[in-house]
Amino acid sequence: MDRVRKTADNISKIVPYDPKYLPADAFLSANENPNDVPDDIRAEISAEIDKVQFNRYPDPLANELREMIADANGIDRECVLVGNGGDELLFDTALAWGGPGRIFLNFPPTFSVYAANANLTNTDVLNIERVPENDFAIDEERVLDICASDKAAFDFSILASPNNPTGLISPEGFIDRFLQATDALIMVDEAYYEFSGQSVRCLLSANENLAILRTFSKAFSLAGVRIGYIMASEEVIREYIKVRQPYSVDAVSQAIARVVFAHRDYFLAGTKRMIAERGRMLEAMRRMEGIKAFPSDANWILFRIDDAHRCWEYLYSKGILVRDFSSSRSLEDCLRVSIGTRGQNDAFLEALQAFLCSR
Ligand code: PMP
Repeated sequence: MDRVRKTADNISKIVPYDPKYLPADAFLSANENPNDVPDDIRAEISAEIDKVQFNRYPDPLANELREMIADANGIDRECVLVGNGGDELLFDTALAWGGPGRIFLNFPPTFSVYAANANLTNTDVLNIERVPENDFAIDEERVLDICASDKAAFDFSILASPNNPTGLISPEGFIDRFLQATDALIMVDEAYYEFSGQSVRCLLSANENLAILRTFSKAFSLAGVRIGYIMASEEVIREYIKVRQPYSVDAVSQAIARVVFAHRDYFLAGTKRMIAERGRMLEAMRRMEGIKAFPSDANWILFRIDDAHRCWEYLYSKGILVRDFSSSRSLEDCLRVSIGTRGQNDAFLEALQAFLCSR
């Protein structure tokens, strides 16, 4: 770039996020729901979209949807904020609680977007590495020690539970102690909560510094629509409202999400089938020699295999796209496969076995 001024140092250093969006027969790389919204629910969605006035701005706070989410979770609507996917709300977290001179406590390996948002907002990152020998659990005592020894050690933290890409939840008892040990904002990212069945929602009323993130992209089959939400104290939500883009959640997405959420029992039944598939996949992978499959509370399985990148290439040559983490720190030799349909999962298992036999 010589005819345009450079961006700020923290931006020009960044390598753009690449979600590795490649064509494939079986997309098992992005932890999406393999099943699209069914026709009868789509028909209801169409009717709802017909009522949308395209010439008008949407309700900035998506109040109807917000109310539905609040009711379902037994909290006030002022304690809910809807965003353009969880991603927007993660960015807003860094905008509101980060910034120059402020510190983000991160638990890598985890969702890379957290650290990327810290970099974008000139926030310093304090990393406490997860423990690979303990299925990538957080070093709880170290975290609590840091909180006890230095109140100013960090300003906010994001803890994914289940953690992407390693798979397990963090125990509620630890999260409770963590919340009590600091007044920093602790976001618990429950994007995959419907697959773990475990939430820290019950800790909300006693902890003003807790924010819970959820998404419609996984269990509710709406990755293409972009709806996520936060549950937190009214005071915390107010800080988010200061930094968010007022019209980030368009009226069409709001309409789609309302219909889908009204049918949540249907989607949660599908989630149960995916959990059963996860068990079947894990068992099959654990029977294969040369694979270390990590336990999972989510809709994917992380596994370690020699020649991981060559395995990724082999699977892709068979039309199966999985996520390659083999060049990521602490995840050497690791690939991550999302739980797909039964047919996709069988195709994956067969191809993986064929790769192992070919070596
Ligand atoms: N948190 C985690 C841990 C994720 O894996 C994802 C999606 N990959 C998100 C948040 C954001 O999801 P979305 O923006 O689709 O709501």
